[in-house]
Amino acid sequence: MAKGRKNVVVFPFMAQGHIIPFLALAHYIEQLGYTVTFVNTPLNIKKLHESLPPPSSSIDLVEIPFNCADHGLPPEAENTDSIPYNLFLRLLEATPTLELPFRKLLSDLIEAAGEKPVCVISDFFFGWAADVTHEFGIFHAIFSCASGFGLACYYSLRLNLPHQAPENNLEFFLPDFPEAGKLHVTQIPLSVLVAGENDPMVKFQRKNIPKWSSSDAFIFNTVEDLDRSGLSFFRRKLRIPVWPIGPLLLSRRDTGSEAPSNLGKCIEWLDKRGPKSVLYISFGSQNTISASQMMNLAKALDASSRNFIWVVRPPLETDVNAEFAADKWLPEGFSQRVHDEERGLIISRWAPQVEILAHKSVAAFMSHCGWNSVLESLKHGVPLIGWPVAAEQFYNAKLLVEEVGVCVEVARGTNVEVREEDITEKIELVMGDNEEGKRIRRRTAEVKEMIEAAMRDEGDYKGSSVKAMQEFFAAAAKSCCC
Ligand code: UDP
Repeated sequence: MAKGRKNVVVFPFMAQGHIIPFLALAHYIEQLGYTVTFVNTPLNIKKLHESLPPPSSSIDLVEIPFNCADHGLPPEAENTDSIPYNLFLRLLEATPTLELPFRKLLSDLIEAAGEKPVCVISDFFFGWAADVTHEFGIFHAIFSCASGFGLACYYSLRLNLPHQAPENNLEFFLPDFPEAGKLHVTQIPLSVLVAGENDPMVKFQRKNIPKWSSSDAFIFNTVEDLDRSGLSFFRRKLRIPVWPIGPLLLSRRDTGSEAPSNLGKCIEWLDKRGPKSVLYISFGSQNTISASQMMNLAKALDASSRNFIWVVRPPLETDVNAEFAADKWLPEGFSQRVHDEERGLIISRWAPQVEILAHKSVAAFMSHCGWNSVLESLKHGVPLIGWPVAAEQFYNAKLLVEEVGVCVEVARGTNVEVREEDITEKIELVMGDNEEGKRIRRRTAEVKEMIEAAMRDEGDYKGSSVKAMQEFFAAAAKSCCC
């Protein structure tokens, strides 16, 4: 660890969609001249050690103990990418047990360094971390890897249940977030809609969310101009400073989770395709669609003339760690046919997403609308075909379609029948030569410029996200000196 620099502690939840943006944050903070202590559970830290290119001298990867068996989790189930989605909650419920080791870690860090870290930045799932941090007189912030809008809808729905739409009324406003516009019942995950007071996720969040206002600040991986209403919601609700500092994104080189052969294969394949001719399809690091939806998506791709790269994860009801079986999950001969026609590339489980989205041949992204995926897409000017499947992805899709205008939704959730012809229609709408497609592509190009401007730091010009980060560190440093 570099001497003479002040230290910042960062601590994400154990999921790729959290670890990746926290790592991007760590790299950004390192460039500002701080050292970073990056905290996580043993297996995640081990993977990061293996994957990070020459270990940075300013980012210290530190593990705190966590035993899966103590929580009824299978061995090595320390990350949501290696467990079925229905075990997500069990992993989440286990996280308050990290409080004790985290307290000890802070105490050890202070003793070893002879001074306190400038601040602790932790995950929104770790509401308890603010009080622990304050015990040491350290400034605490939450870093949200979700959008302001998505998290605001999530917050409101979790705290204001039950939210069943009034009889015969399929649309309704959120009582404390009317700026979001009307939500249609299909824009809310079924699990949220039917959850009662005893629902485990409701119980978890009713303890967790109220603790957010104990933090000293909330920083978001988002852009003020992209996400205004959600950010205003949190400024109003929490009454603590809310700073949008994004988009902070990692290149694949930094995450290292990718086998080099996979990266080379994808880029080589993309190099041979025409500019803006390829549809990229992925449902993120932990979600998937149902077996019948997967079949229909494949049939739609067969019927469409478009080139595509599809990252296939085992369909629902299949062991998440099952051997990859494209021929079982997709129509007979599909993989071979699209390969022979040089039209499609099927990737097993994990693709170098950022490099794919950055490639000039990519025209559109069929995505579950996880916020990291959304930012990665928009940063590269790629419009979206939204298929939210869980959590706040539904609200992200609403924001992107209704407010930002860079997305068309093809389906919502995993328990609906998605017709082949509807999928091809939406693909054509976004990729084809039609007025709506042109409008979406124009708007996406504008949003790309907007987010580039937010991160620009040239002489006197500081983009909104750069300014927000400066204000955040000024507040942390001031509190550190008091
Ligand atoms: N990701 C990737 N390759 C994949 C799937 C996901 O690199 O095949 C990365 C993606 O680039 C993003 C993160 O994993 O940074 C997923 O985060 P997101 O918020 O989009 O969705 P989540 O997986 O958390 O639902």
